[in-house]
Amino acid sequence: MTGLPTSVLRPSLLKVAGHPWFRRLATQTTPGRAVALRFVAGETLEEAMTVARDLDRGRVTAMLDHLGENVATLIQADTARDDYLSALAAIGRAPMLDCAVSIKLTQLGLDASVDDCLTRVWPVLEAAAETSTVVMIDMESHPYVDGTLEVLRRACDRFPKTGICLQAYLKRTAQDIFDLPPGVRVRLVKGAYLEPPDLVYTAKDEVNRRWAELFTTLLARGHPIDAATHDPRLVEGVRRMVDPLEAGWSRVEFQMLYGVRRDLQAQLARQGYPIRVYVPYGTEWYPYLTRRLAERPANMWFFFSNLVRRG
Ligand SMILES: Cc1cc2nc3c(=O)[nH]c(=O)nc-3n(C[C@H](O)[C@H](O)[C@H](O)COP(=O)(O)OP(=O)(O)OC[C@H]3O[C@@H](n4cnc5c(N)ncnc54)[C@H](O)[C@@H]3O)c2cc1C
Repeated sequence: MTGLPTSVLRPSLLKVAGHPWFRRLATQTTPGRAVALRFVAGETLEEAMTVARDLDRGRVTAMLDHLGENVATLIQADTARDDYLSALAAIGRAPMLDCAVSIKLTQLGLDASVDDCLTRVWPVLEAAAETSTVVMIDMESHPYVDGTLEVLRRACDRFPKTGICLQAYLKRTAQDIFDLPPGVRVRLVKGAYLEPPDLVYTAKDEVNRRWAELFTTLLARGHPIDAATHDPRLVEGVRRMVDPLEAGWSRVEFQMLYGVRRDLQAQLARQGYPIRVYVPYGTEWYPYLTRRLAERPANMWFFFSNLVRRG
């Protein structure tokens, strides 16, 4: 299972994880939930804030993500907006904690329309502005990229500190970065979705090369950048590029996912680099878990061995 490259296995693993029987195994069995807890801070906001405080003690900042995507009704989108408002209120009550927020637009009604989505994004951005909390917009699968960039442009007109995630595996990203609002904060990732092969680079080396090129372009164009990767070679490349720049680390930070490469997170924090961890929480953790399982075949192995071991 570990002999094949991840880029070959990932699409199959994502397909397996998409099956209803697999979903039942993951969500309704104790081993399934145990594996989820490796990547998810918990089901409640309180649990997420506890994780944020623990990270803070290790000089790591946090970014809360209330899990959920592709809501079925606009009432669910309203609930998601309210959940984010609660998260922002909790952040406001913890002024010593450096805690950002990340939102997914299909959780806030993007499937209905950009305008529908914006009616829920505005109150979130207004509440975030009151406590100077950074709000980042996650990037979802390719059909949502245009809508997401449109929301970003309109959001930035009123709230210029809103940031966006861009995916290096997507071929169009090389053009999209030239159409971004000037100076907007960008989280650069490799990309986590199962996409048609003609729209993305599929070979791991190619994606890594694109990530490095995009990072360089974003840096040259003056964007604040969140270097969101656990890839040691890319982390090293970023360090080499940013270390010599005067005040370089005032506009670049590392970002990693909760439960992934904790050793590297701690090492960077010890060395004094800015590092923020994405802290997902909530009851709708299954789609997020499938992406984490597929990123590393060993995670799937861990999942199944847990199932067997615990009967
Ligand atoms: C802060 C943050 C926000 C993100 N937001 C988005 C988003 O909005 N949209 C989007 O499409 N993607 C997002 N991603 C996910 C991203 O696209 C990648 O799928 C993910 O980060 C894995 O890629 P990598 O750069 O770490 O490199 P990889 O080459 O996948 O991994 C490098 C090394 O990191 C470790 N590793 C990586 N993933 C795992 C894992 N799941 N379990 C255990 N070890 C692992 C392994 O040691 C691996 O060898 C986000 C990632 C981060 C860190």
